[in-house]
Amino acid sequence: MNIHKIDLNRLKEFETPFYYYDLDLLDETLSRAKASADKRGFHVHYALKANFNARVLNLIQSKGFGADCVSGNEVQKSIDSGFPASQITFAGVGKSDKEIELALNHQIFAFNVESIQELLVINELAGKNNVKAQVSLRINPNVDAHTHHYITTGLDENKFGVPNSELEKAASVLRECENLELLGLHFHVGSQITDINVFKSLCVKVNEWKSWFEERGTTIKVLNVGGGLGVDYHNPDGNPIADFEAYFEVFDKFLERTPQQEVHFELGRALVAQFGSLISKVLYTKSGVKKNFLILDAGMTELMRPALYQAYHKIEKLGSTEIKEEVNYDVVGPICESSDCFGKEVELPISERGDLIAIRTAGAYGEVMASRYNLREEIRFVYSDEV
Ligand SMILES: *Cc1c(COP(=O)(O)O)cnc(C)c1O
Repeated sequence: MNIHKIDLNRLKEFETPFYYYDLDLLDETLSRAKASADKRGFHVHYALKANFNARVLNLIQSKGFGADCVSGNEVQKSIDSGFPASQITFAGVGKSDKEIELALNHQIFAFNVESIQELLVINELAGKNNVKAQVSLRINPNVDAHTHHYITTGLDENKFGVPNSELEKAASVLRECENLELLGLHFHVGSQITDINVFKSLCVKVNEWKSWFEERGTTIKVLNVGGGLGVDYHNPDGNPIADFEAYFEVFDKFLERTPQQEVHFELGRALVAQFGSLISKVLYTKSGVKKNFLILDAGMTELMRPALYQAYHKIEKLGSTEIKEEVNYDVVGPICESSDCFGKEVELPISERGDLIAIRTAGAYGEVMASRYNLREEIRFVYSDEV
């Protein structure tokens, strides 16, 4: 149920702060994404790092999504949550030997490999463990995702992927590594991408690199184009579900491929961002010389995105049906850091101690980044079927 439809007194029975998870919206979002992908024969791996709450993973797994992992623990968590190993991908610039061996022993679908050195290490460990490893080469396509520089990953200056100048060498290394099987190519250009043209540019680069490998006699079976589809942080109720049709259609239209070539995606944010809100209580109101402050019982320890990369989240006062006087507030948390601020000059109905505030679109990269800094309490949740 949408957060605004819940009886305020009922909501006030739960201790704040907590994440409110609207499982109906999650279900609907997943169904739409899956239907749009299935229709085109596309494979979607859910990027666990966006949210690995147990109930979320159970639902996503039950819908038939694969998993996209960036650590050994995420690989293990996917297996434990019922994702088939044959649908698990493992990316990351710094995979440790222990993490690689774990993934090898589970015989996951693919390692998305980010350097030549990593190829050699996986080959060696696979030999030692008497298994073969399926790998995709992560290529940095030098596509500007037009997003915040902290969440851009596909430019030449970023740390991700095999540098283009080394791909020739990577191809020859692969031919010599007898414990490796090259599945295909992997790309991921960034996150919170709202300009669909970025994905068109990505398709052009994927086509170029695919031909480049095929001209050199390398078979490419899998094209993994990563994730990054953005959501509407400004209007969560108007646009609760990302436009998956338009997104997948771009790839269907612009990716050149044979019927044998598989197209894989790794979506995180677009699947889980909108179903979560962080609910917090106003502890104090304070008027400075130039500012009005709303001091909440939630802070960067519960939702770090604003402090980490100045991310915007819509902030709403709950239960304020008839608009009364509006005030511009700096909405801040209790943590001893100046960056612990959810929004500056936020226009809200005049608020007082005890009012409930919702910070919207917090389902992705919210709970997973929670910390115990200042010895804060473990994060709490309320699921929509509990209210
Ligand atoms: C984070 C990540 C994703 C998911 O990104 P979203 O923007 O949440 O869709 C996909 N693939 C890789 C390799 C990632 O690191």
